[in-house]
Amino acid sequence: MQPSMFNVQVPLPERNEVFLMNTFSDAQLLVSPDVPALLERVAAGTANRLSDEEHETLTTLAENGFVVSSREAERRGLEEFFRSVREDCEQLKVTVLTTLQCNFACDYCFQGDHGDHNLFAQKMTLEQAAQVVGWVEERLDTVRPERFVLSLFGGEPLLNLPVAYYLAERCFAACQARGVEQKISIITNGLLLTEEVVDRLLPFGLIGVKITLDGDRDTHNRMRPLRGRQGTFDRIVENMRQVSHKVPLTIGGNFDESSVDSYPALLDFLKEQSFSDAIVKVNFKPIIKTTPATPKGMIPLTVVGASGKPLNGTCMTTAGAGNGSPCDSCHFVDEKMAFLRSETKKRGFPTPDGVHMGPCEIHRKHAYTIGPDGSLYACPGFTGEAGQSVGHIDGRQEAWRAGVARRFEALAAYKNCGDCSFIPVCAGGCSVASHTELGDMNTPTCHKGSFESALVALAHSAAAAVC
Ligand code: SF4
Ligand code: SF4
Repeated sequence: MQPSMFNVQVPLPERNEVFLMNTFSDAQLLVSPDVPALLERVAAGTANRLSDEEHETLTTLAENGFVVSSREAERRGLEEFFRSVREDCEQLKVTVLTTLQCNFACDYCFQGDHGDHNLFAQKMTLEQAAQVVGWVEERLDTVRPERFVLSLFGGEPLLNLPVAYYLAERCFAACQARGVEQKISIITNGLLLTEEVVDRLLPFGLIGVKITLDGDRDTHNRMRPLRGRQGTFDRIVENMRQVSHKVPLTIGGNFDESSVDSYPALLDFLKEQSFSDAIVKVNFKPIIKTTPATPKGMIPLTVVGASGKPLNGTCMTTAGAGNGSPCDSCHFVDEKMAFLRSETKKRGFPTPDGVHMGPCEIHRKHAYTIGPDGSLYACPGFTGEAGQSVGHIDGRQEAWRAGVARRFEALAAYKNCGDCSFIPVCAGGCSVASHTELGDMNTPTCHKGSFESALVALAHSAAAAVC
C-alpha cells in the first residue's frame, strides 16, 4: 500500500486545512493536516499501528484513489486509462477544414490574407464534401457512436458556406437514419457570422460558435486586421450581438507579451455588453511562434467540443507559425495564463480551471480532422503540414501516410514525464507544440508551473465553496 503518484496538495493555513486532489481519480478533499501526515507515514512504511480513526481515514483515502496497492498497479491503471480514452466510441468527432483561405491578415499566422496565400489556399469543393459525408457514414456504421460532433474550422470556415451547409445537412441526415445525435460547432473569426448563417445551421444541431478576440478593441485591431490593416473588432462584436440570442458563444483569444495586458479591458468590455450572458466560456492562450528553422505549417487552433466548451485538451498554445521568437519563456506563459484565468473568473465568465485539461483529442482514435482535400490528420494542429497526414478519406493506401499514422498511434509523450502527478490531466502537453518548438512530438511540452498555479486557484475555489 502506498500513496498514489497522482496526489497533489495545497496547504490552506488560514483554515488549518489542506486541499488534497488526485488527478487520476479526480477526487478532491479538504482535510486536516493530519491526513497528509498519515499519507507520509504510509509512504515511509511507518503506518503500522493505526487508530480506528486513522484506519477509517485510510480506507476513505483508498476508496478515492489517494492510496494504491502498488506503483506498478497504478502504472497499469494509467495505461488502461489512456487505452480507454483512445478506444472510446461514445463520440465520433470530426473537425472539417472547409477552406484554408482566411479573410484576416494576422501577423502571427502564416495563413490568411497575406501575399497570394488565398489564391492558392485549398478550398473544399461540394464533390469533396460529398466524399466526406460518405466517409462519415462509414465511420458512423463502424464506430456506432451515441453522438456525432462536427466542428467547422479553417482557415475561415464561413468563407465556404456552401460546403458548411452541405456537410451540416447531409451528416445530419446520416445521423438521423442511424439514431445518432448530431452537434455542430463553428470556430470562426466572426467577421462573416450572421443570423442567417446561424439560422441555417441551428436545425442541424448547431450548439456553439467560438470567436477569437485578441485583446481589447485597439489591440485586437492591431493583432487581427484585414489586409489593408482595417480593424475588425467592431464588426465582430456587432455580429456577436446579432446572433447571441440564438446560439451560445465562446470567446478565445491568442495573447503575446505585447497584448496580454489588454485582456482585462476586453473582459470589462464584454461584461458590459447586453449579450454577456450568452458567453458560455472564455479561454485565452499564448501564441507560440516557431523558430525560423521550423517548417511552416501550423495553424491557430482552439476547437469547441460537443458541449460547446473548448476542446477538452491541453491546447496550451496557439501553434501559429509567424515571425519572432518562441514565447519568451514558459514562466511568462504560465504566469500570464494564471493571471488571465483569474481576471476572467473575477468577472464571472466561465473558464477552464487549468487543471482538468486533457488528454486532448490527439489521444482519441475517433477524433478526426479532415483537410480541404480530404487528407486526414491526427488533430487540427497538424493540418497545415501535408506530410503529417495519417490517411485520406478515399481510403487510398500510401506507405508514407501509413508510416505517419503508426507514429501518431504510438504517440505517448507522457511516458517521458517520469512520475509527474499531472500526467492524467496533461498527458505530456501539446504534441503540436512539441513538434513545432522541440522538433519531436514525443518530447513533452511541459507547463507544469501552469498546472501548479491553477491547482492553487482550484484549492481556494473549493475551500470558498464549502464556507
Ligand atoms: S496535440 Fe495540441 S493542438 Fe492537437 S489537440 Fe492536442 S493540445 Fe490541441
Ligand atoms: S508535460 Fe510536464 S506537467 Fe505535463 S505530464 Fe509531463 S512533466 Fe507533467
